[in-house]
Amino acid sequence: RSKADGRGTYRFFEEEMDAKMQARRMLELDLRAAFINQELEVHYQPLVAVESSKISGFEALVRWQHPERGWVSPSDFIPLAEEIGLIAQIGAWVLKQACSEAVTWPSDMRVAVNVSSTEFKSQSFFSNVTSALQMAGLPGHRLELEITETVVLQDTEATLATLLQLRALGVRISMDDFGTGYSSLSYLRKFPFDKIKIDQSFIADLPDRDGSVAIIKAIAGMSHSLGMNTTAEGVETMEQFEAVRLQGCTEVQGFFFSPAVPAYKIAELIASSGDKDRVAA
Ligand code: C2E
Ligand code: MG
Ligand code: MG
Ligand code: MG
Repeated sequence: RSKADGRGTYRFFEEEMDAKMQARRMLELDLRAAFINQELEVHYQPLVAVESSKISGFEALVRWQHPERGWVSPSDFIPLAEEIGLIAQIGAWVLKQACSEAVTWPSDMRVAVNVSSTEFKSQSFFSNVTSALQMAGLPGHRLELEITETVVLQDTEATLATLLQLRALGVRISMDDFGTGYSSLSYLRKFPFDKIKIDQSFIADLPDRDGSVAIIKAIAGMSHSLGMNTTAEGVETMEQFEAVRLQGCTEVQGFFFSPAVPAYKIAELIASSGDKDRVAA
């Protein structure tokens, strides 16, 4: 190999990096514009109680339809929003949307809202929650906040204080994507969550992987002993639903029931979910 070859490769690498940085910078500008121009939307995915097969609430999931790129996944733009300091504003907006939507549902249904760790730690977070509830007239017990292990692994004192303040409002706290993070269980002693959501990667392996069955069973058993509910995320088939039901999960969520839908389709979903006695107000 000659030196020239090596340099050529390096130059190519540099150009590729430039292109990536430029694309990222474009996406960043687009995201800021999208937020200002109100191009973001909130969709809602049903949470289904295992015992009754009835909808117990909905998870709010933010959506961005980019004029050229089409749907951009929140898994891509939420981390970007965190990096560029837009997450607190987007989060506050999602909270407001979700609370004012949920207040139109039957009164026993809750709305679950994802909170990223940067958002959780931001100064305005707690007041964003209280003002979203107040403006919508939604009782705190109808709101669930989904946080990830990243939140509880940092700043334990401040985090615990915020979690207790939220709990005092009646707000429920769920641990999202359980099993994918640092797998340190000590925080479960410090703060009892209301719900643990088992990450969809464990459900995707069902019913074939014995290891996943054992893990789901263990998480559901532990949750139950600690007085917490367990949601299985990403249930796509009848077999998976049966498997998580048998292992003791109390709630399910996934394409088997419904993907996330725009707000206007919710009443229809509730009406067709088998509980015709509960129709949206
Ligand atoms: P998450 O909170 O774990 O949400 C569940 C994700 O799984 C959603 O992806 C949902 O559409 C997807 N899902 C649900 N059922 C199934 C299924 O049966 N099969 C498969 N393959 N997927 C299923 P989505 O909407 O793309 O969101 C991805 C992640 O982005 C969320 O994961 C959450 O961490 C984050 N996110 C979404 N909306 C918000 C938001 O408003 N704020 C914040 N901070 N994060 C959000
Ligand atoms: Mg979630
Ligand atoms: Mg999750
Ligand atoms: Mg996830």
